Amino acid sequence: MENFAGSLSRLTGESTLLYQEIARNVERTKGIKTINFGIGQPDLPTPQRIREEAKLALDKGFTAYTPALGLDELRSKIAEFLTQRYGDQIRKEEVAVTPGAKTALFLAFLMYVNPGDEVILFDPSFYSYAEVVNLLGGKPVYVPLSFDENSGFSVDMDELVSKITPRTKMIVYNNPHNPTGMNFNDKLARELVEIAREKRLILLSDEIYDYFVYDGGFRSVLQEAWRDNVIYINGFSKTFSMTGWRLGYIVAKREVINKVGILASNIYTCPTSFAQRGALASFDTFDEVRRMIDLFKRRRDVMFSELKSLKGIRVYKSSGAFYMFPDVSEILKTTGMDSKALAVKIIEEGGVVTIPGEVFPEKVGRNFLRLSFALDEEKIKEGVSRMKMALEKLT
Ligand code: PLP
Repeated sequence: MENFAGSLSRLTGESTLLYQEIARNVERTKGIKTINFGIGQPDLPTPQRIREEAKLALDKGFTAYTPALGLDELRSKIAEFLTQRYGDQIRKEEVAVTPGAKTALFLAFLMYVNPGDEVILFDPSFYSYAEVVNLLGGKPVYVPLSFDENSGFSVDMDELVSKITPRTKMIVYNNPHNPTGMNFNDKLARELVEIAREKRLILLSDEIYDYFVYDGGFRSVLQEAWRDNVIYINGFSKTFSMTGWRLGYIVAKREVINKVGILASNIYTCPTSFAQRGALASFDTFDEVRRMIDLFKRRRDVMFSELKSLKGIRVYKSSGAFYMFPDVSEILKTTGMDSKALAVKIIEEGGVVTIPGEVFPEKVGRNFLRLSFALDEEKIKEGVSRMKMALEKLT
């Protein structure tokens, strides 16, 4: 078995950042302003109430360590909020606040994945899942999503079940889904919880985009019988435009949360004190969240109708998150490029940053580009029209 330092050397870091770097070069050398469809965060400021609470906490000297699992008040507030939202009685002891959802995900993998263990991931999926599984000596096992322009992305449950082996430890579910922008159908959460229970697997459910839903309802795994084997992940980054605050949370049964506490006290001690005070106010800002979602829905509509007019592109009108994931396979075929080369060309020729689907493992993404619509409508229109010009030059 390769040692830990060996697998560490294969970690690639955030490859989406590479394309921002190329864009900076283009801006420098060509003197043009690029349009960035690569961003993975809302472009709005954190609601004022939250900022004020954090400032107040700082001014009052609330700057010392907090408990490893986060402030009691914040854990209680999260538990209360989820109880209200999903109807299940969730307790403070079942909640841990973490420095971002990414840390929460990392800890979940760390607690369960041993060398040689298999983890089932959707293909494509958020790049960091596979990276961490590999780092821990585990093996990602991919279930490809199929694509249909009208109904979006779907998973074949029989195929997923056929990938379960005696070495399978975990299934990772992310809804709404990065990078496809899919809000999966209501049944999927239930089916996955059932399969996980039947096969004695952990279901890791990353619901960080749960407010970014434009079509269809949203069903959380917390609406199912989750306690035995579900680890639920969420955070403040996307819903409240708080990416830089680094606050996420885990919901799981008490014993798991206790382990998170032990890991936390050895790794980062606690989440940032005054940021947690700010987050306490976030539950009073849902009017702003709703306005943001309405705005994002309009942006989604604009981006969709603009993309529809591009030749060689098949696109689903995304139903969740803030990404559009067009299929560009026809363009790749005509030009002989892969999605990475195409993304670079679109930056160089059009000054527009997109993320090649290839960075979202494993195979399916190779035919796609990911575009974020977390920017204003004028920029969306201009960006897609610049993309159109760049593509016309190429094809
Ligand atoms: N999970 C998914 C699917 C994401 O897309 C992201 C951020 O891009 C995260 C988790 C990380 O969130 P956080 O900022 O809370 O670490």
